[in-house]
Amino acid sequence: MSDNDGKKTLGLRGGPRSGQVKQSFSHGRTKNVVVETKRKRVVVPKPGGAATPAQKTDGAKPSAGDPSKRPAGISDAELERRMKALAAAKARETEEAEQRAAEERAREEERERRRAEAEAKEREEREREEALKRKAEEEAKAAEAAAKAKAAAEAPPPPAADAAAAPRAAKPAAAPRKTTEREDRERQRQQKGRDDGGRRAGKLTLNQALSGGEGGRQRSLAAMKRKQERARQKAMGGAVEREKVVRTVQLPEAIVVSELANRMSERVADVVKALMQNGIMATQNQTIDQDTAELIIEEFGHRVQRVSDADVEQVIDTVEDSDADLEPRPPVITVMGHVDHGKTSLLDAIRNAKVVAGEAGGITQHIGAYQVEQGGKLLTFLDTPGHAAFTSMRARGAQVTDIVVLVVAADDAVMPQTVEAINHAKAAKVPMIVAINKIDRPDANPDKVRTDLLQHEVIVEKMSGEVQDVEVSAINGTGLEDLLEAISLQAEILELKANPNRAAQGAVIEAQLDVGRGPVATVLVQNGTLRQGDIFVVGEQWGKVRAMENDKGERVKEAGPSVPVEVLGLNGTPEAGDVLNVVETEAQAREIAEYRANAAKEKRAAAGAATTLEQLMAKAKEDENVAELPILVKADVQGSAEAIVQAMEKIGNDEVRVRVLHSGVGAITETDVGLAEASGAPVFGFNVRANASARNTANQKGVEIRYYSVIYDLVDDVKAAASGLLSAEVRENFIGYAEIREVFKVSGVGKVAGCLVTEGVARRSAGVRLLRDDVVIHEGTLKTLKRFKDEVAEVQSGQECGMAFENYDDIRQGDVIEIFTREEVERTLE
Ligand code: GDP
Repeated sequence: MSDNDGKKTLGLRGGPRSGQVKQSFSHGRTKNVVVETKRKRVVVPKPGGAATPAQKTDGAKPSAGDPSKRPAGISDAELERRMKALAAAKARETEEAEQRAAEERAREEERERRRAEAEAKEREEREREEALKRKAEEEAKAAEAAAKAKAAAEAPPPPAADAAAAPRAAKPAAAPRKTTEREDRERQRQQKGRDDGGRRAGKLTLNQALSGGEGGRQRSLAAMKRKQERARQKAMGGAVEREKVVRTVQLPEAIVVSELANRMSERVADVVKALMQNGIMATQNQTIDQDTAELIIEEFGHRVQRVSDADVEQVIDTVEDSDADLEPRPPVITVMGHVDHGKTSLLDAIRNAKVVAGEAGGITQHIGAYQVEQGGKLLTFLDTPGHAAFTSMRARGAQVTDIVVLVVAADDAVMPQTVEAINHAKAAKVPMIVAINKIDRPDANPDKVRTDLLQHEVIVEKMSGEVQDVEVSAINGTGLEDLLEAISLQAEILELKANPNRAAQGAVIEAQLDVGRGPVATVLVQNGTLRQGDIFVVGEQWGKVRAMENDKGERVKEAGPSVPVEVLGLNGTPEAGDVLNVVETEAQAREIAEYRANAAKEKRAAAGAATTLEQLMAKAKEDENVAELPILVKADVQGSAEAIVQAMEKIGNDEVRVRVLHSGVGAITETDVGLAEASGAPVFGFNVRANASARNTANQKGVEIRYYSVIYDLVDDVKAAASGLLSAEVRENFIGYAEIREVFKVSGVGKVAGCLVTEGVARRSAGVRLLRDDVVIHEGTLKTLKRFKDEVAEVQSGQECGMAFENYDDIRQGDVIEIFTREEVERTLE
């Protein structure tokens, strides 16, 4: 059967009449079908046996009335009867054909009508669809209707053609005629089945199952698709309408974008978009800082809960000491005051040992602490004059100072830095003692100082206030005893106590990378006792106390509260203000240090984005162009780095600000240059140099590296750059480098360096610096420059020579000599 389209015919194994057939479709779907076997209708042309011969022709080959081809053994009467039957059949055939044609016409008309109806409906629906656009469901229906109409239009024509051809084809024999008849009936049934398919859905005839089944299946598939589509749309539409779930989002100090989205249960793409709308271009794997994340969380309508994921730090002993365990401890004193009012001199006078004079720029670069005895009690002085270190340490959470000694020169008055010092002491809630210095000076006027101080709400005892005031002279020692007594008295009032019998906790006063000894930190023990062999974590570093030295340079095995010691055995250089904690195991120490280092790194990385945000917001808000000059600072010691950063942060006006991207101790490395390049920042080296690879990278990438040995020069330069001032500038040109290969002792001359000029030229008249591990050890001039035995003016690159410094001979093999000239150049806008 053509309708079968090559499909396997369903067989009736159960029985000839009726039963159930299991239909298998694709995708493993099956369907039980009730099968109704219709018995063949026997066509009876005339009442009487006529049908039998007609049926019998089935078996006999059609003879088509030709007597010659007549089968043998048939009588004339028989033949006549047969011919009659044939004629009758023919007549009936024609009749039936006419009837069929009429039926066909009627059906055709019906189809036409329905098609028109469907088309009208479709058109109408299309119009509605265009009006509403999003009615996908409607469209599906329309499409279905269209498909139905099309199917109805397409399927019947072949039968029509068949029907037309049938009478002629059927003429020679009854068999083909019967086939067409059956086909016709089937088609009619099919047609009917389709027309009122809904009514008969549950009951299928075999033929319907064969041919109509496919159509039914298609329809149900489409219906399923529509259903799915509807469900999907409902789900999507529902999400928008769904009431928003407000979540409490735990927010650490820095968070990866995807994790933030996760915690808010929002889509990552939405979060990235929200960030973008806030001017932050971040990918889902990027880290953003707490403030930015908070903004985003609020934007999404969730609650923020800031948390610290510093769980690893919990191994640090934070148990409060009970009163019974506490013992008195010495006070820790910081000397503050305006520049040149005599802080250093006073500290020196107290220590009774003069610091070697001649520090660059007058700023104390090497800081530490010392203890003195007063009336059988100890006093700890921080050897860090100025408030830079004081504030930077406080900023790091290390409040080490118990008493501030405010130095004011009697021959001067209260100056800007005096006021700053007063403010810092007040902010830190640290009691003050006023030391009116230079009392030996003929023009000294201590009472003026006292009255000046009143303006800043410092009422000294002589003015009936509570602040002790002592007149001193750092130069001839007048009043020093009184000052120390005043300090002791103040300490007694404070009743300072600590528990020496616990794991030590301290603060880094100063740290540096020492040539030969490795990283060294001066630690002021604040609580507990630090012992040799103790394992500790300090800031982002950790270590094991290898050795300790006290302020007198003596080896000690332990250090109790308020005792400053130099600690050896660190794995890296910590920063001033870092807190030291003794922990039990090396693994713990390492874990905490790593955690802190990562956290700091993430914070630094996130800070960049935050600044961008701030900048953008500031710009958007004020429409004012506040430019920033980003800088990197590397210095020889922590004290210098801190001092520079403090000074830098003060520079700036309404048009420009200085932002220190990074500051650190030691040579300028490739990492520094990389950071500088990324931010378009210059690198300032204070008494340090870039190492070879950093120098090459800087040259390639065009990163500006500037070297300084006097803080004020650096500050002035940055100030000038910031304000765009044009003035003459002294610029240094490095004309050559030489490496010390050997050191000789020459009687009468001292130490002479046997060198190889590795770069440029060594010039006798030029300035020289001695570099050890890229840190400037000495700056001065040459005493001699010799090529073999002769004194020469210049030695070219690749040649060996002998060099000796004027007034300096701490030279070592491996040191590098930098040869430079100075010239004055017109400053240009940067
Ligand atoms: P700092 O900048 O506050 O540390 O001040 P210094 O300690 O460097 O002192 C600045 C200058 O003042 C130095 O030249 C000292 O010699 C001088 N000086 C400090 N104290 C006294 C003092 O008590 N009497 C006199 N006559 N000069 C002093």
